[in-house]
Amino acid sequence: MLTDHQDDIYLEQRERMVRDQIERRGIRTQSVLEAMRAVPRHLFVLPDQQKFAYSDGAMRIGHGQTISQPYIVALMTDLLKLRGDEKVLEVGTGSGYQAAVLAHIAKEVHTIERHVALSENAALIFEELGSENIYLHIGDGTLGLPDQAPFQGIMVTAAAPKVPPALLDQLDDGGKLVLPVGRRFSQVLEVWQRVGAKYKQETVTAVAFVPLIGEEGWPEGAEDRSHLW
Ligand code: SAM
Repeated sequence: MLTDHQDDIYLEQRERMVRDQIERRGIRTQSVLEAMRAVPRHLFVLPDQQKFAYSDGAMRIGHGQTISQPYIVALMTDLLKLRGDEKVLEVGTGSGYQAAVLAHIAKEVHTIERHVALSENAALIFEELGSENIYLHIGDGTLGLPDQAPFQGIMVTAAAPKVPPALLDQLDDGGKLVLPVGRRFSQVLEVWQRVGAKYKQETVTAVAFVPLIGEEGWPEGAEDRSHLW
């Protein structure tokens, strides 16, 4: 991915974001820190919001959706424990920022979004950046992408009422699934790892995401009052 724009006036802000918001909160994995330093977050926010792109919070991206807080993007990426040779699925493309961070580390990223306009916008940014390992899909990500499975990592960037079974099924042996699970306005971040025919599960921290809407998620209409990560 082309991230060394000579006219990147946000380079210093991005460095500061990584140091103050991410390293300082305990993330030490070099590949994750490098990805967060490299991906130009300001390109993924609304044009009139670019100057706030490196602030310590989630931001609106239109259609009632958000780009997650930088620390949460780094934390969820770190939890997947990627080495670089993985095929990863992201559910909830949104702005495309998380997919770009994942694509900086993993071999191949498939990202699925239910709002066509968001996906089309993300495609334009990926084109501008010259990304070659991100594949965009439109549809209900609660069902995963059976044609592309298995995945060595799956990340869901919207809140599920329970873990979608299709996503567990589509995990490769040893692969990890990271997702927020819980109630409509408060959840916990969970990590599931497939170990043969079984799964290990751990809970990481409290979070608050916009809802995952679909067959194995919340019903249509649950997006109202979205003001979350
Ligand atoms: N990862 C995004 C980014 O980096 O900007 C942020 C994602 S935003 C917090 C959650 C996204 O999940 C929204 O764009 C929403 O439309 C999408 N979403 C919700 N339910 C979905 C589903 N069943 N399938 C695919 N996308 C879904």
